[in-house]
Amino acid sequence: MPRLVDRLPADDRTNGWSALLPARLPSAPLQGDLDVDWVVVGAGYAGVAAARQLARLQPSASIALIEAGVVGENASGRNSGFAIDLPHTPGTSAEATEQGRRAIRIGHFALNELDGLVKEHAIACDWEKSGRYHVAVTHEVAAQTLKNYAANLDTWKEPYEWLDQKKLQDRLGTNYYRAAIYTPGTYLLNPAALIRGLADSLPAQVQLFENSPAIEVDLDGPSPLVRTALGRIRARKLILAVNAYSQSFGVYRERQMPILLFASLTPTLTESQVAMLGTDHTWGVTPAESIAGSTLRLTRDRRLMIRQGFEYSPTLRTTEERRTKAKAMNLGLLRRRFPQLGDMGLEHFWMGWLAVSRNHAPAFGQIAANAFAASCCNGSGIVRHTAAGMLIADVAAGRENPLIADFLAQGTADYIPPRPLRDIGVGLTMMWDMWRGRAER
Ligand SMILES: Cc1cc2nc3c(=O)[nH]c(=O)nc-3n(C[C@H](O)[C@H](O)[C@H](O)COP(=O)(O)OP(=O)(O)OC[C@H]3O[C@@H](n4cnc5c(N)ncnc54)[C@H](O)[C@@H]3O)c2cc1C
Repeated sequence: MPRLVDRLPADDRTNGWSALLPARLPSAPLQGDLDVDWVVVGAGYAGVAAARQLARLQPSASIALIEAGVVGENASGRNSGFAIDLPHTPGTSAEATEQGRRAIRIGHFALNELDGLVKEHAIACDWEKSGRYHVAVTHEVAAQTLKNYAANLDTWKEPYEWLDQKKLQDRLGTNYYRAAIYTPGTYLLNPAALIRGLADSLPAQVQLFENSPAIEVDLDGPSPLVRTALGRIRARKLILAVNAYSQSFGVYRERQMPILLFASLTPTLTESQVAMLGTDHTWGVTPAESIAGSTLRLTRDRRLMIRQGFEYSPTLRTTEERRTKAKAMNLGLLRRRFPQLGDMGLEHFWMGWLAVSRNHAPAFGQIAANAFAASCCNGSGIVRHTAAGMLIADVAAGRENPLIADFLAQGTADYIPPRPLRDIGVGLTMMWDMWRGRAER
């Protein structure tokens, strides 16, 4: 049955990462009718990885990749730029550590893919294996969450270093954190540059159409159909890779929740400000308290980045008032960490949406006879959704890959009651999580 896509992404042109890059000419929008073997909807990490994998598996197949906006301006280009190798499994049960092992295999697979592509295509995205500080602000979170994480890392035989407040002060230039676990495998990068580079290096058999939102789809027919404002694509098979926007296609509506996050970049710090920071020339911090906490970076070009805020956002829109508050919060939290830097301002402030499920499991698989979806990233999608994109292409093309079992072992996103009941339950739970973890902000 044809279905109108009821909510499209809207680019507010605020993404700080792409503002630092040279201008890029988007590919032309879809015009007219096209018949192809495959259509992939959404050119984020999942969609681009799916299209590339399909091209590898079927070198003579025709593949169309359609993107509502411009590559790099949605979540894939707006995130904090951590390509994370390890899961954050908080539990220490045998099941949780085994899940962790599976997630590590998936993480290594996708990171190898990304590392290979960055090198092969000389993608200039500040790609650097800087590692990651997983931090606790309070003694309680250090003693519980970080200790549990250390136990997991021991079990997985993953290298790490435990740092106290003094060592963190030396390395990062802030005494805000009580303790951290440093793991060396995370890459830091400019996400807009990475996703642009990945999309622009797709094989020639993939036709990318930007500024081409799917406004109507028929997922159920023998040949799925996608309609845009100026064209129409009929395909043998379709892959939906729109993450938070899946609900607009009527897909996984009762399994995933759109979440809104806010991020900011300072101007380049002066030489004297840099001298007041620590010994690491570039670093990344992720919060042990993942919902309430803040992600932080010192970028290669000497800017501080902060990502804070995690709120249920069912309409995929927000208000100017909310943005103003979030921006003030970003700045206040930065100044609290680095009072020595004086009256620091923000050069860029933006927001982005991702999708989470109640049980942190993905929404992934076949959604109709000839349609498949990779959705619900639960954060960490640079790596996880590169894997999801490649694996959904394998599933759709009927290729066996043992990593599919690892991916599926995460389970399927749990059912959540529909709105408006959900708005009350989820909204309250998240507000409670934010309030409970407020000391970790
Ligand atoms: C502020 C922020 C910070 C984050 N930090 C990190 C981080 O440091 N590390 C990390 O790994 N992850 C991070 N994430 C999460 C990460 O960005 C996502 O997991 C990732 O972008 C998911 O990739 P995706 O391709 O599945 O979805 P998306 O990146 O959302 O891509 C989906 C694409 O589908 C397109 N689309 C939607 N509707 C339509 C339509 N109707 N027609 C055509 N196209 C459509 C969208 O325009 C979009 O380009 C962060 C996210 C945010 C918002």
